Amino acid sequence: MKKERGQLIVLSGPSGVGKSTVIAELFSQRNNIYFSVSYTTRQPRVGEQDGVNYNFVDRTEFERMIAANELLEYAEYVNNYYGTSLKAIQQKLESGVDVLLDIEVQGAAKVRARCPDALFIFIIPPSFEELSRRLHRRNTDSEDVIAGRLEKARVELKEIPSYDYLVINDKVSGAVAEIEAILTAAECRVENRKSILAQFA
Ligand code: ADP
Ligand code: 5GP
Repeated sequence: MKKERGQLIVLSGPSGVGKSTVIAELFSQRNNIYFSVSYTTRQPRVGEQDGVNYNFVDRTEFERMIAANELLEYAEYVNNYYGTSLKAIQQKLESGVDVLLDIEVQGAAKVRARCPDALFIFIIPPSFEELSRRLHRRNTDSEDVIAGRLEKARVELKEIPSYDYLVINDKVSGAVAEIEAILTAAECRVENRKSILAQFA
């Protein structure tokens, strides 16, 4: 059944918890959902593709986008800018497609203020030690950057009470199943089923 308007979904969680891994698995199982490719000034990691994982831009271009009001939200995270293009997601939502944002907590707070109907999901690792192990095992960041990300994680975890749902990424399949359950519950909301209800009027 096609929806009149897509659901905006915000997924946050500390760097290295497994957001990209879980999102990739979720997208392999679910249609009618679009991943919002963010803009960032960070350097691409090995294997990352421009336009797929991120749109990689320099600080001048990012600051132009801020000044031109082209971003739904943006934040500075460990010395780099990250932001969501408003235009790209608006078109998808208006055509009935769900949109997933993988964004950190400051950006999520801005979305909460602008789009109160969005679904806010926070994802955590089974333990802090496991988060550190995953960041090291990913092997993409220097020891300094990893330390910065772990420090940031402690601050981010304090924001969990502002979210609607908490997902634990112990096993990837378990985390994906929890997110699937949240999205299915959201689809069953009365306000999302108005077109079916109309025939019973
Ligand atoms: P994020 O996008 O949150 O920064 P990634 O998806 O890059 O995190 O995952 C960080 C590392 O942890 C990667 O090496 C990934 O393979 C691994 N990982 C992700 N989920 C799990 C899991 N459930 N169990 C073990 N390792 C995981
Ligand atoms: P990474 O450098 O590990 O890819 O991402 C660092 C952090 O930036 C993650 O917490 C990720 O969710 C967040 N992030 C990615 N894109 C955006 C965005 O468009 N806006 C905001 N506010 N955060 C983002």
